Amino acid sequence: MYPSNQVGLKLAARRGFLGRCPGCGETKLFKAYLKQVHACSSCRAEFGRIRADDAAPWATIIVIGHIFLPLVFFLELDKVMPFWACVAAYAVLLSALALVLLPRAKGLFIGILWSTRAPGVEAG
Ligand SMILES: [Zn+2]
Repeated sequence: MYPSNQVGLKLAARRGFLGRCPGCGETKLFKAYLKQVHACSSCRAEFGRIRADDAAPWATIIVIGHIFLPLVFFLELDKVMPFWACVAAYAVLLSALALVLLPRAKGLFIGILWSTRAPGVEAG
């Protein structure tokens, strides 16, 4: 296992957020949409046992529900478009935003957990 203490927390978190290996930044962190690789093929850092659990959905909800959703109420697009079109547009926009943010949030938390060796890592 690549020694995580050689990579700073901010760098590991940034690499994870970008979907790259927190250890080296050279390979992809995910082999599927939200499924992380077991280990980096370049630096051999292991991620298969790291569990971000509810942190990524929580962060995504915080960003969308507390930052972007209030903006919806101030935009007042209902004066430009019919109400049903606004609801449809916001549903598509916010769903797409959630789908984009979720893997980035998971990568961020995997980078943090990997860098700090926090208890988010399964024992064994
Ligand atoms: Zn790596």
